[in-house]
Amino acid sequence: HAKESGRGQLCLFSPEMNQRVFEYLWLDTNLRKALEHQQLIIHYQPKISPDGKVNSAEALVRWLSPERGLIPPNEFIAYAEESGLIVPLGRWVMLTALQQILAWRRQGIFLRVAVNVSARQLIDQSIYNDLKQALQQNGISVSPIDIELTESCLIDNEQQALHLMHQFRQLGAEVHLDDFGTGYSSLSQLARVPIDAIKLDQSFVRDVDERPISQSLVRAIVAVAKALHLRVIAEGVETAKEEQFLLENGVDERQGYYYGKPMPADMLEHWLAQRPAGS
Ligand code: C2E
Ligand code: MG
Ligand code: MG
Ligand code: MG
Repeated sequence: HAKESGRGQLCLFSPEMNQRVFEYLWLDTNLRKALEHQQLIIHYQPKISPDGKVNSAEALVRWLSPERGLIPPNEFIAYAEESGLIVPLGRWVMLTALQQILAWRRQGIFLRVAVNVSARQLIDQSIYNDLKQALQQNGISVSPIDIELTESCLIDNEQQALHLMHQFRQLGAEVHLDDFGTGYSSLSQLARVPIDAIKLDQSFVRDVDERPISQSLVRAIVAVAKALHLRVIAEGVETAKEEQFLLENGVDERQGYYYGKPMPADMLEHWLAQRPAGS
């Protein structure tokens, strides 16, 4: 600490701050290169539909670093958002997911893919234009790409965000509100946003079968969603008991380790093939 270092000495950074600065610089040098050198990969996590079938998966980016191995998104997305790299990164995820959807179609696998989009990607039309153009180039009339946004996307530039949400839906993309219940959006706001579904945050799903407060919150959120004609998707389902509570309380779209972790595309193909016939 600066105080302990005595008179005449100036200590600008604590060890923790040093660590953070070092990390920032490391990301600054390496993430751009990672994007250029194809070190990013997408894992796909299946979502279970009300009828038990899998019609959709979520694209979750990872970084395969030659130096550090597999790096999870929580360690670089915030930096990407701050630096603006999230714009090309997000474009890459969306276009790569679309190519994967087309490759699956050629194999007789029909899946939608939801991509996560950050607030920073909504400040202009580019993400929308990219999707529209890619759909046109591939002769696709209804978008098989869906969009996951968090409530924070609505705070900074609400008008622009709402406009883009309408536009995405006109392309046939569904818009889902991710991590629902952890942000600051009000119920009146929820009634105004053009969305198809909310994704119930994992914190409400965790041990819901044995936590009365989570149970009350889930029931209340489901009631509001139903009143607004929105679907509810549970994320982070890990146990049969959590699933049972959710199904009994009107949450029938589910995602979580209980069904399948995020996995590379070829693993998802095997995972799908091993599910009971027709599902
Ligand atoms: P998210 O969109 O809310 O994704 C859910 C996260 O929960 C994923 O973590 C997923 O692997 C994890 N998860 C799924 N099921 C379970 C479960 O049953 N138990 C537990 N404990 N965790 C589960 P992941 O892949 O590490 O991604 C973290 C976050 O990074 C995502 O949260 C999303 O906000 C962000 N992210 C990932 N890919 C992208 C991207 O391409 N663009 C942007 N902007 N953000 C991304
Ligand atoms: Mg998500
Ligand atoms: Mg989430
Ligand atoms: Mg999250």
